[in-house]
Amino acid sequence: MSLDDTLPDASAGVGPIRAAPRDGAASLRLQLYEAVRAEGRVSRASLAKALRVSPGSVTPAVADLIGAGLLREVADAAPASGRGRPPVTLAVEPGAALVAGLRLSDREHTAALIDAAGRTVASASAGRAPGDGTVAALVEEAGALLDRLLATAGVAIGAVRAVGVGLPGLVEHGSGTLRWSPIAEGTDAPLAALLSDRMGVAASVDNDTNLLTVAELWFGKGRGLSDFAVVTVENGVGMGLVVGHATYRGARGVGMELGHLCVELDGALCRCGRRGCLEAYVADYALEREAGPDLPEGEIVPLLEARMAQGDPVAGAVLEKAARYLALGLGNVSNLFDPRHVILSGSRSRWSPADAATLAAAVAAHTLSAPPPIEVNAWDDLIWARGAAALALSDATPGLVA
Ligand SMILES: [Zn+2]
Repeated sequence: MSLDDTLPDASAGVGPIRAAPRDGAASLRLQLYEAVRAEGRVSRASLAKALRVSPGSVTPAVADLIGAGLLREVADAAPASGRGRPPVTLAVEPGAALVAGLRLSDREHTAALIDAAGRTVASASAGRAPGDGTVAALVEEAGALLDRLLATAGVAIGAVRAVGVGLPGLVEHGSGTLRWSPIAEGTDAPLAALLSDRMGVAASVDNDTNLLTVAELWFGKGRGLSDFAVVTVENGVGMGLVVGHATYRGARGVGMELGHLCVELDGALCRCGRRGCLEAYVADYALEREAGPDLPEGEIVPLLEARMAQGDPVAGAVLEKAARYLALGLGNVSNLFDPRHVILSGSRSRWSPADAATLAAAVAAHTLSAPPPIEVNAWDDLIWARGAAALALSDATPGLVA
């Protein structure tokens, strides 16, 4: 059975769109494969031009990739003139790989299964179990959710090449270690190894904001950008940085903690235990603390906005103060990294493009040169899991193509 028959067209491609061939040791096979995946449909001649190699070197490498079941030829529609052979383009063979992605959070876990062309084959979600809060319990929840995802898709674990898992906290992607997370007790757990054991497949882990960053690189506004920052503001403040079309994580993989950038010495208490972190002025829990004890249950920002609209001066002041601190944080990001764009991303994005324009004006007050454009990208809930799956596919691609 071909999954291709039932899924949306993949001709738009997925993954970073590079303006120039990448530096370093990537083989021609890998570069060709990634270029086809990014373009969706592309001719051999266009590939040679884009990668700045001779058509004569593209032809045998493409033949190898087709022979290995990784690429396929697609006949485009016949020319309007009706004369001549229809042009043949190349596309990724979608069934060449399946990878899964999971996003674990304090409220709901989500999962997505994608094919080699980046299309979502199946999805699943589960509420956070009232477990004992340990890493072992979280691993079991993740394993059970993967089981459910595969049952939904009618796929056995043996067909899954890799699983990517993201969660909030200090997560070392390289070593697979969970240093600390607000959703699991304990420190320094070998999370990737524990997940691999439970799931029976290679698992990698990352900070959840990096899932969104990968999602922007693969599916979103960052596909054609070489350098950009992704910022999320929800129950914490997260940041991802892309440098040269790749996620930058710092030497140990625990950098970009924008939420814990100190913006006030001896300031408000943060969830991390320190004082004056940006998060302690901007995140949902900070707004709830500032707004006082008589708030009903619900999303804090819409609640405060409704009160502000009714003339409540406290609600207006809380939101205004949070926006001023966020502008300070984004101004510092601009001064340090000079990103081409800042994308305010997430499935619960509280920002509208109009808010982003106001925010950009406030950011400019903190930057030495003109600040980057600030864009809003509000996704559905599944985007975190799709980003996790794209992370797994990205990591698995060199092995797939080798
Ligand atoms: Zn903090």
